[in-house]
Amino acid sequence: MKIVRKNIEVKIYPTKRDINDNAEKIVSINKIESNIGISRFIYDEELEFINQFKNLLIQNGYNDKVKVNNGSCNVILKMLRQEYPFLEKAESSSRQQAQRDLIKAFDRYYDSSLKSAYPVLKTKKKTKKFSFRIINNNNNVRITQDKNGYDKIKLAKLGIVKFKTSKEYCELLWKGTDPNDESVKIKHVTVKRVHGTYHAVFNIEQIYLPEKIYGPQMQVGIDIGCGKLAVLSNGQEIPNLDLKQETENIIRYQKTMSHHKKESIRHRKAQRLLNKSWQKFLNKRKDYCNKITADIVKNSSFIVVQNENIKSWIKNKHLSHSIQLNAPRKLLEKIEQKCQQENVKFVKIPKFYPSTQICSNCQKRNKKLKGLKNLGIRDWDCPHCHTHHDRDCNAAINILNKGLEIVGTTVQ
Ligand SMILES: [Zn+2]
Repeated sequence: MKIVRKNIEVKIYPTKRDINDNAEKIVSINKIESNIGISRFIYDEELEFINQFKNLLIQNGYNDKVKVNNGSCNVILKMLRQEYPFLEKAESSSRQQAQRDLIKAFDRYYDSSLKSAYPVLKTKKKTKKFSFRIINNNNNVRITQDKNGYDKIKLAKLGIVKFKTSKEYCELLWKGTDPNDESVKIKHVTVKRVHGTYHAVFNIEQIYLPEKIYGPQMQVGIDIGCGKLAVLSNGQEIPNLDLKQETENIIRYQKTMSHHKKESIRHRKAQRLLNKSWQKFLNKRKDYCNKITADIVKNSSFIVVQNENIKSWIKNKHLSHSIQLNAPRKLLEKIEQKCQQENVKFVKIPKFYPSTQICSNCQKRNKKLKGLKNLGIRDWDCPHCHTHHDRDCNAAINILNKGLEIVGTTVQ
């Protein structure tokens, strides 16, 4: 038995009204926007206060290192609440959460191993993330039925709201609502605005039982590439996703946007269409990535990948376009995450291991394949044992062998 944390994203439909025909409180766009605004306001004001305090310290010749913790921030929040009465409109846990985000940002800044930058103000123009978070206390975030018998989400004191999701997710949410059911618990919910539509992301804690596995159990080495998204050590190739239509749309709407005056009706329309096509592009890629990883992880008992230096690939002008389209880093992260969930053994081998240059048959190194300029050689003959190799498949086999060596078992 294992407990996993999982996010469930649900599309919600807030309305313009505050109360529906049956006199029930419903979530309006106004309420969500004001909560988002207040969260940002608290973050910014507290940060501003800390900055001023730091300047004072420097002027008087002290060390400017300030301890930012819950105690000191609570004092600032109390003052803010007295000065600005409109802060009372927001959900109390979302006020606390904004403050917690700030403390986390400072913790990351003072942690020398992370190299994080100093926290910056969340200005309306620069930030793209608009959200606030409600913590589930005493089951105040749950799924209920309204007076007409339809399923609705209840967001604490904001009210109820219509939503759309799959049957599977709906069942999970019902389980999380039931106080007698221990298998699923709703921890918190994040409400966010993405390109004009609203989403609620539920964070749930679930007791997870690994699924039954069909088919043979494989040991797999995975080589991430550019021409193909990945090649497995058993010879299976995973092609890149065809994103031609989506990229063409994005380029087209960017052009139309540049042809019109800012803030004009046509400019705004093009912006809306551009956002939509971006969202479609991202959704398609995410879906493809999820399907591939699920397929690989379900049929495997042991997975090895190489920790590739993808940043250095981006500098190469021939590769950068393909990488930005297909995002191989995301695939690697997803595989690692899924392996942890499904209890599959996962090994990452170091990035400087020359997996492409070694012959998987005689283990001798062929230095002719070294460097990015020799990427064009797709298949080659080993000069020592004369075996014919496919470049990517050979690399995948080497990665698997190295992984087995690290774990300390021999090749079967
Ligand atoms: Zn050889």
